[in-house]
Amino acid sequence: MAANTAGCRAHREAVQRRVPVTRPVVLMNRAGFYKAGWIEKHWPTLPQRAEIRMTGLESGPDLHTEVAEADILYNRGSFRLTRDILEAGRKLRGVVTSGVGTEKIDVAAATELGIPVANSPGNTSTVAEAAMLLVAALAKRLHFWIEAAREGKAPDSTTEGMELFNKTIGLIGYGRIGRATGKIAQAYEMHVLAYDPYVTESDVAELVSLEELLKRSDFVSLHTLLNDDTRRIINEENLDLMKSTAFLINTSRGELVDEEALERALTNGGIAGAGLDVWDIEPVSPDHPLLGLPNVIGTPHGLAHASESRRRCAVLSEQSILSLLDGNIPEFTVNPTVTWRFDQRTDRRRGEKEL
Ligand code: NAD
Repeated sequence: MAANTAGCRAHREAVQRRVPVTRPVVLMNRAGFYKAGWIEKHWPTLPQRAEIRMTGLESGPDLHTEVAEADILYNRGSFRLTRDILEAGRKLRGVVTSGVGTEKIDVAAATELGIPVANSPGNTSTVAEAAMLLVAALAKRLHFWIEAAREGKAPDSTTEGMELFNKTIGLIGYGRIGRATGKIAQAYEMHVLAYDPYVTESDVAELVSLEELLKRSDFVSLHTLLNDDTRRIINEENLDLMKSTAFLINTSRGELVDEEALERALTNGGIAGAGLDVWDIEPVSPDHPLLGLPNVIGTPHGLAHASESRRRCAVLSEQSILSLLDGNIPEFTVNPTVTWRFDQRTDRRRGEKEL
């Protein structure tokens, strides 16, 4: 509130001194993603407060020039926000992402430069639903039955799926999406295990070590952030710990899995199958070897796309941008200890000369 007042005061003073008042600039990257009308539909308030620009550039001096004029950068997930781009943003008050993942942003550099980075976690329910959809589809062999119907095959005594009732699901990462997945699994009367070094209690999940989770689970579902500790957390060694009847589900990030080790485990009977929505390299190539395996259900990082979640993410991102413009650190800032370069008292970047 105080900062908002500072913003208004700076504006009033500028008007009194007849200095032309420029509106803050919000720069959105991945311009090609947005269809006409997106801004009007999703950001009802922002266009009155800021000039909204789009860029299709991913790197280079022209992008630096565009970023240099931006007060806020709105970053769509697959875009790499490297130190040089952040350094080019001399006026930047903050970065806001369109979804949860911030691993493509150099958050350490942003923190060093005094730039808050806020994410927009509006997709918890839909990702949890997508993960459990893959669990249920693998258990019921949905992909097999769809093919059988197309080919006119009648069920026989050799083809059967399994129940989820009384089975064990292990959640690696027990944050927003992990917890939401656990609740749905509980409704199936599954036993829920979770491994998350930063979570100490849960009413739903039995918290266990990674090794115990891998050994006991019928379904292992990934819901951790991608970081240096979790990159390739599903590798040859950990796949060896899983039951040969178990399934792996990944709706989190492709880099959590060593795909070559997974392919070996799926072809030599190490594990029973996998449901994968995310990939090491995206968009996933149609001739990716995992997509050709009969015990894999693969989707191109789209299974969780829902109109409600997109809308929710857009609302959260607009709120975060407005907070930054009002001089407040947004609620979902992933580097909350940042020393903000923006001076709320003067409504300017710290150290910048007053008009
Ligand atoms: P979150 O921050 O609420 O939860 C992440 C959890 O990971 C936290 O509880 C954290 O303690 C845990 N974690 C961190 N390091 C860990 C480690 N070494 N081992 C185990 N757990 C660890 O995030 P969220 O909103 O639940 O999102 C989870 C993941 O889902 C993210 O990677 C995100 O990018 C991904 N995601 C995917 C989609 C999609 O479309 N498929 C959409 C949204 C989010």
